[in-house]
Amino acid sequence: MKISDIFETKSKTVFSFEVFPPKRTSPIESVYGKLEEICALKPDFISVTYGAGGSGEKNRTCEIASKIKNDFKVEAVAHLTCVNSSKEDIDRNLVQFKECNINNILALRGDIVEGIEPKKEFMYASDLCKYIKTQGDFDIAGACYPEVHGEAENEVEDVLNLRKKIDAGAQHLISQLFFDNSAYYRFIERTKIAGINVPIEAGIMPVTNKKQIERMVSMCGASLPAKFAKIMQKYDTKPEALRDAGIAYAVEQIVDLIANGVDGIHLYTMNSPYVARKITEAVSKLL
Ligand code: FAD
Repeated sequence: MKISDIFETKSKTVFSFEVFPPKRTSPIESVYGKLEEICALKPDFISVTYGAGGSGEKNRTCEIASKIKNDFKVEAVAHLTCVNSSKEDIDRNLVQFKECNINNILALRGDIVEGIEPKKEFMYASDLCKYIKTQGDFDIAGACYPEVHGEAENEVEDVLNLRKKIDAGAQHLISQLFFDNSAYYRFIERTKIAGINVPIEAGIMPVTNKKQIERMVSMCGASLPAKFAKIMQKYDTKPEALRDAGIAYAVEQIVDLIANGVDGIHLYTMNSPYVARKITEAVSKLL
């Protein structure tokens, strides 16, 4: 099923997950048990990252997405980045997706890595969206940034660039994680002003350990509201309490987003069945 159809036919808030493939050094089967548990929660779809944890992981995106869709019977979205890819690399991926029955793609530029000269064929995600559209019957999603993408000059330029991605074929959007819902609501207002009318899912990451918070803030520049920082500080030395507080904070964010009419919630599960289950149990009747 296409993700656009899920948005069109659902009478409730769409609820989806993100997972990542294991590193090359671990056998691919090492995540199957966790994936099966996560799939058993029956989200509307699961997206699978591409190369975000190192280059060796790339080719496993299709394999994991295929396992989710064809064996565990949950709709899957494969992430695909383009800035360091040639047209041939992209073609190879698209052929693989078709062979594995994957027709939903999250089209991304990918990060520009210091010391690696981008291959100039796809400069932006919008270039990839445009190309994918010519290559088959794919449903295309794009990424968006409630607190503005790190390279954008300002929030106006960022949302105008986002509009280009929609015009190039992105049919719905998934947001970067954030901890401050008011930043998300301001972003939604900007998208409306820019004439962006596609469904937008809010990316929520339940923070369950201190290292993860530091990594996330440095990687995606998400601001930490004082309330959140205080909770994290209080349970700094108590891992289980910190995990439970992180889950509770995410649930509170989700309840507020649903009450405010969000199109969907995309949960960054970090491959944790425990976290995915706790959150699903807490919000499933509210969707
Ligand atoms: P773009 O939409 O191309 O935007 C990049 C920058 O260029 C922005 O500053 C934008 O304002 C600007 N821009 C865009 N179009 C134009 C234009 N036409 N002219 C001028 N400027 C323009 N990374 C991975 O490596 N693997 C993953 O699996 C992955 N999954 C992700 C999932 C989500 C939901 C999100 C939010 C991010 C993910 N990322 C992933 C990270 C992503 O690759 C980076 O954030 C990357 O830096 C930007 O990708 P993009 O697709 O948003 O880029």
